[in-house]
Amino acid sequence: MINCLNKRIILTVFLLFITIQFSFSQDSNFDFKNKNVLIVYGGYPPHQPKKFAKKVEKWLVKNNAKVTLSGSTEIYANDKIMSKTDLIIQSVTMLDIKRNELKGLSNAISNGTGLAGFHGGLGDSFRNSTEYQYIVGGQFVAHPGGHVFYDVNIIDKNDFITKNINDFNLKTEQYYMHVDPNNKVLATTKFSGDNDYWIKNAIIPVIWKKQFGKGRVFYCSLGHSMDVFDIIEVKEILKRGLYWASESKFNPEEELLSPLYQN
Ligand SMILES: [Zn+2]
Repeated sequence: MINCLNKRIILTVFLLFITIQFSFSQDSNFDFKNKNVLIVYGGYPPHQPKKFAKKVEKWLVKNNAKVTLSGSTEIYANDKIMSKTDLIIQSVTMLDIKRNELKGLSNAISNGTGLAGFHGGLGDSFRNSTEYQYIVGGQFVAHPGGHVFYDVNIIDKNDFITKNINDFNLKTEQYYMHVDPNNKVLATTKFSGDNDYWIKNAIIPVIWKKQFGKGRVFYCSLGHSMDVFDIIEVKEILKRGLYWASESKFNPEEELLSPLYQN
């Protein structure tokens, strides 16, 4: 009797597990409806920017997006392409950006082109450009201890991007970032202090969204290596984040300014 009950419990748990896995492995229903997406990649080779670009391109094309790939930020200075772009996905770590390129990028986002990216590809792209950091809403400054185990805590469970996503943990670079305190933060991480003792219990945003002019900006600090994007939760966040950012021109502006400090 007990054995039989145990078997049923095990079977139920197993089926539940399979169902959860299955529902996450399905491509959530994101139709990019012929939207023009520009993927710009380059910089720091360990981040495998081209591989990331190709991986994202494959998923976008499958979901009806028209994708342009560029290995240079020069494309930001091309008004004709930029004015037609609905979403820019950038994976460019530690390079410089020319004035006219930055102007093109800034103008496009102000006019409603979305911007999305991960890790250093968006959060550590152009260290010399404060204007760029103003757009993104943050800048990488350190990853104490290199690759460490840490938790990602979802703090906004109602947002489209993080709804029904549970907290998760992983081993990768834990980004310590300087962040605009007015971003709408969706997930955070706490530092153990094992490496830099004075930041023990420091809490830093991992995922945020914000507005720049009419454009939606989405950022996630995970993504040092390709395997990070195979984590079920990260994969789902990636898809939703890209889709959300691509909608700036098609949906009314959201109230995203979320001041951390109160006067
Ligand atoms: Zn990295």
